[in-house]
Amino acid sequence: MIIVLNNKSNLSKEEFLKYQEELNKVNSQYDIVLCPTFLNINLCNLSKIKLGSQNISAYDDGAYTGEISAKSLKTSGVNYSIIGHSERRQYQKETNKDINEKIKKSLDNNIIPILCIGETKEERQNNRVEEILKKELIDAVKDLNQEDIKKIVIAYEPIWSIGTGLIPTNLEIEKVNKYIKKLFPNNKILYGGSANEENIDILKKCDSIDGYLLGGLSLHPDKLQNFIDKL
Ligand code: 13P
Repeated sequence: MIIVLNNKSNLSKEEFLKYQEELNKVNSQYDIVLCPTFLNINLCNLSKIKLGSQNISAYDDGAYTGEISAKSLKTSGVNYSIIGHSERRQYQKETNKDINEKIKKSLDNNIIPILCIGETKEERQNNRVEEILKKELIDAVKDLNQEDIKKIVIAYEPIWSIGTGLIPTNLEIEKVNKYIKKLFPNNKILYGGSANEENIDILKKCDSIDGYLLGGLSLHPDKLQNFIDKL
């Protein structure tokens, strides 16, 4: 089981330092990966928790203003990177091709990609879930060999569930995960989208979930502890 904490664009320097103190007290038998803002990465002084980034450059070091390369991230202790989060697809207009490039850079630098996929509410209503997920997955792994593909952690995050308090039924999650496993039998699958210390009692009954990608909950170490205790 792996629990990935996505701080998103939250926690200024002072706030982060206080947060980190609390987070380091969290007890977990599971692997925890913290993905803070880029600025907070170099403030990290984590005891048992691993470090991830929320994004990664599709380019190596060079004339790419505003980008952070995989090499820089690696030398700052980053071992995981969230790639293709729906918020980046939406607001930064990241394409499946960009995501494929980012996955390659990540793997070239021994950073484990956490590839986010998910459908909109409309796509679900129109029965297009499998079609959308398949395209996101196949495009993301273009030109990769089987060994590298196996290293990718897949995060199923239905877009309509992120930050809304809505979650799919267990049946819906199991159906999606079964479909993903059919295409990628060797990859871990995380669930993300409004997972919290209340609905975890239900979510944990899904055998196909290998871990969670947490947004809002990641900001509250006390609630996170309750979540982990219930797992
Ligand atoms: P919430 O847990 O806030 O819904 O966010 C999920 C998410 O987007 C994690 O990447």
